[in-house]
Amino acid sequence: MSVLVFADARGGEIAKAAHEAIFYGKQIADKTSSTVTVLTYGDVSNENLEKLGNYGASKVLVNRSITEENDQTLSALVAEAVNAEGARVIVFSFDPIGKVLAPRLSAKIEAGLVAGVTSIPEIEGNAMTVSKNVFSGKAFAKYRINTEVKILSLLPNSFQVSTTDATASVEEFAPSVSDGRLKVKELRAVGGEGIPLPEAELVVSAGRGLKGPENWGIVQELADELGAATACSRPVSDMDWRPHHEHVGQTGIAIRPNLYIAAGISGAIQHLAGVNGSKTIVVINTDPEAPFFKAADYGVVGDAFEVLPRLTEAVKNFKAAN
Ligand SMILES: Cc1cc2nc3c(=O)[nH]c(=O)nc-3n(C[C@H](O)[C@H](O)[C@H](O)COP(=O)(O)OP(=O)(O)OC[C@H]3O[C@@H](n4cnc5c(N)ncnc54)[C@H](O)[C@@H]3O)c2cc1C
Repeated sequence: MSVLVFADARGGEIAKAAHEAIFYGKQIADKTSSTVTVLTYGDVSNENLEKLGNYGASKVLVNRSITEENDQTLSALVAEAVNAEGARVIVFSFDPIGKVLAPRLSAKIEAGLVAGVTSIPEIEGNAMTVSKNVFSGKAFAKYRINTEVKILSLLPNSFQVSTTDATASVEEFAPSVSDGRLKVKELRAVGGEGIPLPEAELVVSAGRGLKGPENWGIVQELADELGAATACSRPVSDMDWRPHHEHVGQTGIAIRPNLYIAAGISGAIQHLAGVNGSKTIVVINTDPEAPFFKAADYGVVGDAFEVLPRLTEAVKNFKAAN
């Protein structure tokens, strides 16, 4: 028996979330005296694949003939790998590709699925119990899964990954799978060149308190100094002050960075739903009664137009002195 981890390799790169999923799979493998096999696809260098051993993989199966992200083809590929490896636990990342592949595979092989898990499973006989956030992150629930084959998808940024020097063996894996009835005609990347928001460890975000798009320079300057991604509240993207891929919250992207700095954002429940998994929250708001302060680790009652530039200055000084 092995733990099979699906690793997205869009553009030939293994995503950070996939590294976390492999590390997570390794924790399960250690508990069940098994090993981790990673399944990936496309044009990834052997060197990068061997390095997946750093995160806990023993073996990597790669299908180089599949180069496009087609749900039907990829879920058929994973099903073949489950058979070939005799996998009893399959791990995905709860990212856009994992969100479509895991349910497809679950239906295809009749395996129970818990999506968006945040804990290492407790194992009792054939059953596993895992936690996940519910009610927009206000509570967590425990789910028990007892089908023979179990599928888990891991919420990104839920675990601090540690690495070793171990390397994985790499094997080509090319069973015959159909091309699928759906075809990807065009894949257009949005999000520019910066750090992808779901993967960012540091995020500087701003809301309607910034008054207009012409003022975003002070947000960007702090983000640049910190090496952070930028985000915004929903009305800001609705008004086209910022692009939609920066909108975080219940209807936007859910993020869990180590540091979330929110300037001029009130902290409505729908906004908090997407950011309250952040490890440290810093809130800057002129209104001491702003709801966001209740969720903040550090709060600055002040004008974002004064506080953000001073924070940028402080980061610059700190970097110069260290
Ligand atoms: C179904 C539904 C889904 C939603 N989904 C989302 C979502 O995913 N994400 C999201 O963000 N919202 C979402 N919303 C909207 C949400 O309810 C709030 O309206 C929104 O988050 C408010 O954005 P804001 O805090 O930027 O603006 P405001 O509520 O206008 O708050 C601006 C804040 O800036 C402060 N401020 C003003 N001037 C300054 C200054 N100079 N310096 C510092 N602070 C200042 C004010 O005191 C105020 O607290 C959703 C709403 C609904 C109904």
